[in-house]
This record gives sequence, C-alpha cells and structure tokens, in this order.
Amino acid sequence: MNLLIKGGRVIDPSQGMDAVMDVLIADGVVLELGQGLSAPEGTPAIDATGLIVTPGLIDMHVHLRDPGLEYKEDIATGSRSAAAGGFTSVACMPNTSPVIDSKAVASYVINKAKSEALVNVFPIGCITKGGKGESLAEMGELKEAGCVGVSDDGKPVCNSELMRRALEYAKGIGIAVISHSEDLALVGEGVMNEGFVSTELGLKGIPWAAEDIAVAREVYLAEFAGAPVHIAHISTVGSARIIRNAKARGVKVTCETAPHYFTLTDDAVRGYNTNAKMNPPLRSAADVEAMKAGLADGTIDAIATDHAPHHPDEKDVEFNVALNGIVGLETSLPLSLKLVEEGCLDLNHLVSLMSCNPAKILGLDRGTLKVGAVGDVTVIDPAKEWQVEAAKLESKSKNSPFLGWKMKGRAVYTVVKGQVVYQA
Ligand SMILES: [Zn+2]
Repeated sequence: MNLLIKGGRVIDPSQGMDAVMDVLIADGVVLELGQGLSAPEGTPAIDATGLIVTPGLIDMHVHLRDPGLEYKEDIATGSRSAAAGGFTSVACMPNTSPVIDSKAVASYVINKAKSEALVNVFPIGCITKGGKGESLAEMGELKEAGCVGVSDDGKPVCNSELMRRALEYAKGIGIAVISHSEDLALVGEGVMNEGFVSTELGLKGIPWAAEDIAVAREVYLAEFAGAPVHIAHISTVGSARIIRNAKARGVKVTCETAPHYFTLTDDAVRGYNTNAKMNPPLRSAADVEAMKAGLADGTIDAIATDHAPHHPDEKDVEFNVALNGIVGLETSLPLSLKLVEEGCLDLNHLVSLMSCNPAKILGLDRGTLKVGAVGDVTVIDPAKEWQVEAAKLESKSKNSPFLGWKMKGRAVYTVVKGQVVYQA
C-alpha cells in the first residue's frame, strides 16, 4: 500500500504536469509529488529513471466473459492481461451469460473482482432487459449495484424511441450510455468491410454506412434529449466527421476507437485471417487515417481495446462462421505509443486518451495523480522492444492479429492502490 516511485517523467494531464519527479504513495493514496522525496524506512521503491510515470491506464471497453463464458476468459485472467498491458482499471461489458442486467449479476462481478482481480474492474450494465432491445433495464438498480455505464454492446438498440428513453433516464440518474452503433439491416450477412478486398475474397461486405447511419442517429438523439452519449469503437471516416461536427455545435457526444482501427486495414483479412475478423470490421486506409486525425484533433476522446477473447474452436474455423473480436489488452499501449513516435499525438495527449478521459466519461475517481487520489499508477518504458507471442500473453485466449509483431514500449510496472500488481 506504500510505494515510492523515484525519478520518472511524471505525465499527468489532469493537473498539467510533465516533469521529472518522485511520487509517494501511502496507504494506497497519492501522498506527495516532488523532487527528492524521502519515505519511511522499509517503504518499497521503484527507480523510474528514464521511464514515464502516468495515472493508471483505464480501458473502458473490455469483455471479461465472466460469468458464463469462462472458457474464453475470466475475471482473474482478464485482469492479469490488463495488468500486463499497463491497465489499472477496466470497464467490462455486460454481454456475459447471464448478461449484467440485474443487481445480482453486477454484484457477482464486483465481488469476484474483489477477491480475484489484480486490477479495478468496473462493470457496465445492459441498457435493455436481457440486452434484448425491447424494454429498459433497471438502470437505477444497476447504478446502485456499482455499474459505471450501460450498454447493449455487441448489438445496437434498434428502437430509436427506446434509445431516446434510455438517454433521458440515464441522464437523470447520472450514468453513461455507451452505444454500439450499427444498422443491422445494412450489415446483413456481411463478415468484413465492404470494398475491394471483400470482392476479391468473395466475402460478404459490411458497408461503412452501417456504422455512420447509426452514429448519426445517436448524435441526433443525444442532441434532442440534451443528454450525453458515448459511441463505442468508431472505425469510419464518416463517424469521425459526424462526431466532430456534433461536438462543434455542442452535442454531448464522446467516442472511442481501438488500436486495430488506427493500425490495420481490411488487407489484414487476406488469407481469410479470422484474427482480423471483428465488429466493426477493419476498414480502408482512408478510415485508418481518419482515426488518426480524429485522435489528433480531439474528436476521439479515448482509446479502448474492445478486448474480445475467443476460444480457438471459435476462430480456427471458416471465415464466415468465425466469431468477431480480438484480444487487445496487452498490445494496446505499444500500438498507441506508435502514434506518438509517428508525431500524430504527444505523450500528454496519449495519457488523456488512455486514462484521464475514460475516467471522466465513466465518472470514475481515477485518471489522476493529484494528492489524495487513489494510488493507481502505470510506469512505462517507451523504448523497450519486445515481440508478441501467444504463449506469453496472460489472457486465456490468444486471438490477436498482432502475434509475431515486434513492439516498442510497454508497461514495466502496474501499480494498483500503491501495490505493484505487475512487473515486466
Ligand atoms: Zn460493440
């Protein structure tokens, strides 16, 4: 619970801080920031010379698959994967079995996390009962149980009137609504981005319009209701443009994208690579550029992984029937650091995208190293080179399109409430 982190470059956008200094954590809380700090005898210390020290990273969109789908991942393994990726907090989506649409299931996640998780686990509850899109879930009860947001992630709320009620009700009780924006009629039987590559491979395509139309609806509903909405995993030129324009006229819309959407194009699907199958699908080079531009100009508020573990039996199959999604917790930070190396973002901005902003969107008392804040810290070696190997991933599942990739940069210490929960 006590820890002295010495001599690192402390980057904390929540207080405009970027300087070499020490961080002293006592009883799990940030006690002091400054140069040449001393700690009581016996306090564990980390020499962070040459390293970057940030408020603990937060992944606001992961699938821990617990309860019910523990053959893919569980709260313990998912949290180990998070810690290895530098994340001190994750928010987990409710499309488990059963879904998180009641106090009982939310409490199960919270209690299991308390006893088994290395990092903070904040559950997200369903927008609709059973995630079925028919009637609103008991959002008040979910919030009371500890849910930090509501989402029917995996599926859109197709009924616009129901989504309007959800936004209005959620605004009233102060809980974030996270939209999985997709027009299912346009998606049809599509399995990858609609374009040149899908034609060449003979696979059914998903047009960008399927995402853009749904994002536009959420923006108009949020504007109409005067309520905030957060759009999950945006991937298209159009989504970024719609959200940029909406923000400019004062709509309370925020959004996230995932590292794969600013790193890979649908070219990765060639060879019918099921580890490149996800929803939304990998898009075109223009979409990748739009994600970078959206991150750079503040249109995109957060980087989230959409960590989606699957068993080999669900991925080592014909492309059309393979399940959507990839694991992402352990590759998110280096892929995001690449944006800094390319000059797309500076480090301060990156820390906002991966810590401060997700905390703000979900209303978490995290994402800051202010004195008195919870002592969640990530210590990053931006120069550390390593290779992604399935056997070394902490996640129970290995469905990553980045296997074999050489990475630069990783978390070398992950600290939760003053305790080192991961050390590289
Ligand atoms: Zn989703």
